[in-house]
Amino acid sequence: MREFSNLIGGELRRTERMLDSINPATGEVWARIPRSTAEDADAAVTAAREAFPAWSAMPAAGRAHFLRQVAGVFATNARELAEIETRDNGRIISETAKRDVPGMTYLWHLAAAECGAAVEGKSVVLGPDSLGLTRRVPYGVVVGIIPWNSPISTFSAKAAFALAAGNTVVIKPAEQATVSTLRLGELLREVLPPGVLNIVSGLGEEAGDALVRHSGVDRISLTGSTETARIVTRASTDALKPLAFELGGKSPNIVFADADLDRAATGVTTQSVFTANAGQVCVAGSRILIQRTVFDEMIDRMTAIAGRIRLGDPLSKDTTMGPIVSREQFERVTSYLEIATKEGAELVFGGRSGGEIVDEAYAGGYWVEPTLFATEDNALRVCQEEIFGPVAVALPFDTEEEAIAIANDSSYGLAAGVWTRDLGRAQRMLRDLQAGTIWVNTYRKMPPGLPFEGMKDSGYGHDSVLANTREKSCLIET
Ligand code: NAD
Repeated sequence: MREFSNLIGGELRRTERMLDSINPATGEVWARIPRSTAEDADAAVTAAREAFPAWSAMPAAGRAHFLRQVAGVFATNARELAEIETRDNGRIISETAKRDVPGMTYLWHLAAAECGAAVEGKSVVLGPDSLGLTRRVPYGVVVGIIPWNSPISTFSAKAAFALAAGNTVVIKPAEQATVSTLRLGELLREVLPPGVLNIVSGLGEEAGDALVRHSGVDRISLTGSTETARIVTRASTDALKPLAFELGGKSPNIVFADADLDRAATGVTTQSVFTANAGQVCVAGSRILIQRTVFDEMIDRMTAIAGRIRLGDPLSKDTTMGPIVSREQFERVTSYLEIATKEGAELVFGGRSGGEIVDEAYAGGYWVEPTLFATEDNALRVCQEEIFGPVAVALPFDTEEEAIAIANDSSYGLAAGVWTRDLGRAQRMLRDLQAGTIWVNTYRKMPPGLPFEGMKDSGYGHDSVLANTREKSCLIET
């Protein structure tokens, strides 16, 4: 079985203690990963600090050259990286091979192209003898803490833009799905200068906490749950540092009667929640609001689409939905099946879980059927709490105003979808919905050129080149 190492100062370093990495489709251990300590975290920050002066002083074109080489590594190793991601977190191969890895090749090229923007300032004439200037500077050492649900993408968004801006980086992958990040460490040490990118794997409360508290860290960007963001905020107060949080959601996907219902039915089922990594995506459109006059028709269409979803081997191109990432997450998702029923939500389809819903070869994995509940009551836990699995709820509404009120009645504000042919209505929804990203007649398209930032409990701050810089003001008098 492959054992992986941390990447610290350009070297692959083993740790004394290791963790198992489990293939969620089978429940079997398939790799071993470092369980890093506070000393490992400190070594990574020290290596990043040592690499910072030379990396930040390099002209933007020099950094761009390195980042284009990273993009080349993604392109050359695309199939291997996609298969690792699929084995490690269960995301189906058609997503990892067609969406994640090619998308990240593009993202690294984009970051390379934006290196110049990181050093652009402005000049302001303040008087005949007085000139104001701004200089953009990198923060220093940026820590990126990433979740298990899309490691390759989140790793890239954290590392590429921070490096483009001249920072050096320490990445802490999630313990449930770490292998693609550690394999990237092996590949990228061949193309990046030592210490510019460091990776320490392990538990959040051990390696993660040590990084958050470290006085040598200058910025933290976390993608994860709201609960972890609260812990990180408290832990980072002694050594003040800027924080950016991309967190969870309970996103409304709103279907008006005037929409193209065929398109909307596919959009709110496969594009948004069920086959979208078995609902384990932060932007999952898990509250489906449907105008009452087309409610039954939409439910029929969604039921038919869900009936064609195929669970099974995530490495097969015929599979359209994979497993839940871990036993712990499986138990969390299945607990909501009971909660919803107890709260009085009506089961529309799905509801089964466990090994009996797939081929015997995958019976040890963590499987939950695409499941839809219906209710009139947005106050239910199943409507308010992030489940992070293939479980959605349908809610009817009558008017546009009611749709907005239900949609905004949530502690989260990450994303929203609107399905309508009425452009005026679309404009009003874009204005009134409290969400950082809103799609109209589509869903879950996240081009790296557009910022991605939450509202309310979904976080604040984002990953871009400029967000990884600070601006100095300078005044020259002659
Ligand atoms: P999580 O919050 O449990 O873990 C995220 C990361 O934080 C992991 O690397 C974990 O080890 C680390 N961590 C945990 N405790 C820590 C601590 N005390 N100090 C430092 N680090 C710590 O989240 P998860 O379960 O891995 O991912 C699922 C969550 O992430 C969901 O809520 C989902 O919505 C969210 N998410 C958000 C986005 C987004 O961009 N908004 C994208 C993907 C996932």
